[in-house]
Amino acid sequence: MEFIDLAFQQKRIRGKIGEHIEAVLNHGQYIMGPEVAALEKELGQYVGTKHAISCASGTDALLIALMARGIGPGDAVLTTPFTFIATAEVISLLGATPVYVDIERKTYNIDPVQLDRCLSALRSGDTSMYPLPRLAEQREVTPKAIIAVDLFGLPADYSRLDEIAQRNGLFLIEDAAQSFGAELNGRKACTFGDVACTSFFPAKPLGCYGDGGMCFSSDDSLAEIMRSIRLHGKGSHKYENIRIGINGRLDTLQAAILLAKFSLFEEEVRLRQAVAGRYTEFLRSCPSLVTPDVPTGYQSVWAQYSLLARGEAHRDSIMKIMQGKGIPTVIYYPRPLHLQSAFSSLGYREGDFPVSEDCARRIFSLPMHPYLTEGDQDRIVSALLEAAVA
Ligand SMILES: *Cc1c(COP(=O)(O)O)cnc(C)c1O
Repeated sequence: MEFIDLAFQQKRIRGKIGEHIEAVLNHGQYIMGPEVAALEKELGQYVGTKHAISCASGTDALLIALMARGIGPGDAVLTTPFTFIATAEVISLLGATPVYVDIERKTYNIDPVQLDRCLSALRSGDTSMYPLPRLAEQREVTPKAIIAVDLFGLPADYSRLDEIAQRNGLFLIEDAAQSFGAELNGRKACTFGDVACTSFFPAKPLGCYGDGGMCFSSDDSLAEIMRSIRLHGKGSHKYENIRIGINGRLDTLQAAILLAKFSLFEEEVRLRQAVAGRYTEFLRSCPSLVTPDVPTGYQSVWAQYSLLARGEAHRDSIMKIMQGKGIPTVIYYPRPLHLQSAFSSLGYREGDFPVSEDCARRIFSLPMHPYLTEGDQDRIVSALLEAAVA
């Protein structure tokens, strides 16, 4: 059994993928070919946003969004420590300072109440109010932006995050790397904040066969700046450079593959929901596990189906028993970012973000993809129910 099975999907559309690749080989426009524009148009329409700007990865999408806002040294960007490294890495890469805010226990997403508390602490430099990184204690950084993450495919609480961003004049980025296809109150993920960023890494809900990403925005001038940054800061023509940018284009071949895969996407979102629904139905009543919570008005795209065990030893024992039965499980994420040595210069300590730290010790994810058969789901569920009480 695979944790994420990409082979079955490929079998369904192998012919179509081949035709799309063949078309690129025939026209030969490997950089910014017609498939790139076609994909931008199609995905922009699907999520319902004016501008869709493809790029080389989800990491580049976040980098481009921060660069478009001019984020750099002296700026603080508030984000969650319970995410993939890329979310905060891009902040440090630009010389800005990541400032972490703990998550809500139920959704694993950034906690708006704590975000407010952190902003007050940042303004006063008062670390007794909220844990702050070293530079912020000396009031050497100014809050400029928030990166909210839609972890495991569940959108963050954008009605409250928007209000906080607006009240504080902050740029809001939706890290939708895991949530393309999700919804909040009838609105699709990738439409929240000033810019939303997604990833087409193969294991994401919509993945290509390499690296890829996309920025979404309804703001014309931001979109123009992001298009320029993606192409070495280009101006009105290729060899006029009006700002510092990056080589951040999506390959035409990856766009062609994504167009083929996107034809299955809406069906796959429904299949993912069916798998998650069955998992929850059978696991909900197990007293030693916490199943994922999807608040009213939210629709997760289930990039991961993650549960909490009672504690670290319980989690490790469950995973070992499952492995013995040939069922793969994975920990997302075993170490919150404030405790990663890459960020040691920020000076955060263990205990600073207790919810993230507790979840990191207890969380594990089950196999999740649209083509997981009911037979496999039943095997997983019964193995887990047995392992949880062992
Ligand atoms: C995968 C991921 C990224 C980075 O995307 P890449 O395409 O791998 O660069 C960023 N943020 C989150 C939350 C992710 O899961």
